[in-house]
Amino acid sequence: MTQPLLDLPPLSAARFASIEDRVARLLCTEQDVVIMQGEALLPLEGAIRGTAGPGTTALNVITGPYGQTFGDWLRDCGATVYDLAVPFHTAVTAEQVRQALAEHPEIDFVSLVHAEAATGNTNPAAEIGAVVREHRALFYLDAVASIGAEPVLPDAWGVDLCVIGAQKAMGGPAGVSAVSVSERAWARMAANPGAPRRSYLSLLDWKERWIDGGRKALLHAPAQLEMLALEACLERIEADGLETVMARHRSAAAATRAGAVALGGGLEPYVHEASEAAPVATTLRAPSGVVAAELVARALECDPGVPLAAGGGALAKEMIRVNHYGADATAETVSASLAALGAALGELGVDVDVERARGVVGELWGQR
Ligand SMILES: *Cc1c(COP(=O)(O)O)cnc(C)c1O
Repeated sequence: MTQPLLDLPPLSAARFASIEDRVARLLCTEQDVVIMQGEALLPLEGAIRGTAGPGTTALNVITGPYGQTFGDWLRDCGATVYDLAVPFHTAVTAEQVRQALAEHPEIDFVSLVHAEAATGNTNPAAEIGAVVREHRALFYLDAVASIGAEPVLPDAWGVDLCVIGAQKAMGGPAGVSAVSVSERAWARMAANPGAPRRSYLSLLDWKERWIDGGRKALLHAPAQLEMLALEACLERIEADGLETVMARHRSAAAATRAGAVALGGGLEPYVHEASEAAPVATTLRAPSGVVAAELVARALECDPGVPLAAGGGALAKEMIRVNHYGADATAETVSASLAALGAALGELGVDVDVERARGVVGELWGQR
């Protein structure tokens, strides 16, 4: 018997290239798009190691855990790094970036996470891009958690390295990911003696052996199943319309914020300003006296199907994450998540109103 997951013809170079072109269309970019054969951390690390070296001075914006990792990689490459950290309940502002660049005019690289699924904030990437471009620094953007949930426009925003993954709002596979690379970024890599070559981390290998060769021969056997899943995911987004997919995420975030307040019991949005809250996932602050990780564990016992998680590391005490992305960007999932949190709070003797929360979610969804 033929096994659909096993007995497949090899993925051709032409099919691989057509999937890259689809990603380029999703990003509205004319830049080169490279699909890398690993989870998003592969292009995230490859892009930093390719462009940064001892001559680099970087501004690394930290609005969540990934920013910390980027700073570590940059330092490991020998770069001088200035960290700009903001509290996780806010976004960074373009003005803060402008000030940091003015204080250290030698900065020639800026790294930013667009939206943070882990902390629930989203940063004004378009405005920051304009500031970075004016300063002529290279702009590196982690758009893994924003793509599919809100606009991601590398060309319009002046992003030189824009990394995406399909596993969040795109509702796709985690095993392959993509990066768009500007001419300036390629030039920086070509001039960087420390840029990985003949390495799994190397973007230059893909440039020299795949793109410059007219995309005729792949570097190695591709992750075929993941590539097919990415293609299917792009087809589905095209069929639904990217605007529709993004609107579902916006609705899910707005309904979660309002529904949590309606639920009561002291639950509140973690990110203070709605405009700084990411459409991909909503973080909530646990009521005082309640440990977020314990509350989430109880809620998952009540309903194991809801996309709830506690914050990572030290945030596990106070932060609840509602990961309403991909297939979970629905009114039903948001309602069920709040109901599970309500049930768990009720068990702890906290007074909540699950029906009111459900009502608010339904009303908000209907309006949008
Ligand atoms: C999810 C995510 C990634 C991918 O990392 P995983 O931990 O493997 O999911 C990278 N950057 C951001 C901002 C993300 O939200």
